[in-house]
Amino acid sequence: MIQLFLPLNFLGFVYREIRRALTDLENMLGLLKRKPQITDHPDAAELQLKKGELQFAEVSFGYQASRPILRQLSFRVAAGTKVAVVGASGAGKSTLARLLYRFYDVSAGSIRIDGQDISRVTLDSLRRAIAIVPQDTVLFNSSIRDNIRYGRPDASDEEIDHAIELAHLTGFIASLPKGDATEVGERGLKVSGGEKQRIAIARAILKRSPILVFDEATSALDSAAEQAILQAMREVARNHTSLVIAHRLSTITDADNIIVLKNGELAEQGTHDELLAAKGEYARMWQLQQKQQH
Ligand code: ADP
Ligand code: MG
Repeated sequence: MIQLFLPLNFLGFVYREIRRALTDLENMLGLLKRKPQITDHPDAAELQLKKGELQFAEVSFGYQASRPILRQLSFRVAAGTKVAVVGASGAGKSTLARLLYRFYDVSAGSIRIDGQDISRVTLDSLRRAIAIVPQDTVLFNSSIRDNIRYGRPDASDEEIDHAIELAHLTGFIASLPKGDATEVGERGLKVSGGEKQRIAIARAILKRSPILVFDEATSALDSAAEQAILQAMREVARNHTSLVIAHRLSTITDADNIIVLKNGELAEQGTHDELLAAKGEYARMWQLQQKQQH
């Protein structure tokens, strides 16, 4: 009996682990493929942060050499401003975020933070400087509070409470049987997409990085949940340099600059009003989305 039970139990464990891995396939690919290639350059120095200016300079990249995804892409995000990246699904928006966090290296050109090529600074100092709210947030089988603390493990209790407040998680946590000690995951609480994203925002707040990246952070939400998150995002982004990857254009009309990506190329850029007046790709996307809402 024992002999039969153990392997079955083990198989159950393996099955759950595989399922968990598949839900975060990107991470899994990351572990298998990217880690060995991306290492500190022998002469890597610590990133010297000044104001947090971000620059893509003639960046080209493809996951396979035979299939370019980004082509000579150049744009700047001035320190403390908010730049949005929009474009059809598959245009290469998330790829930008992955390159910035150095999951991959560019094939040509460079990405610079305060003038320093990110491939020449230590990975550790680079990743401390950037907080990403990903499309799919992974929660650990632990308490809500531990899941938030993960943003910066040495954060104080007060800082965690403050992050919870800014991320609009107070009401959600108050509704839980054990508050922020409630366990999430496998045998614990099921957390909705919107709640997960607010947890990711709380993590990003705790991390205190000067550069913030939101990757379609509101794409899977209904309107009310989206408003709550947008408000949280705005509070976090204040005084930060932020790159907001967006699907719904209505969420980024206030951006200082909007980059329109098409087939990995910069099709046009400008403010919402400028792009509408230009009657190009952005204006077409805007019109299409306005129609879909009514
Ligand atoms: P977006 O975020 O704009 O929807 P992505 O940046 O995720 O687009 O993807 C751009 C293109 O790169 C897509 O055609 C996608 O299929 C491809 N792609 C994304 N990730 C990988 C990967 N790990 N390996 C190979 N191709 C990929
Ligand atoms: Mg994407």
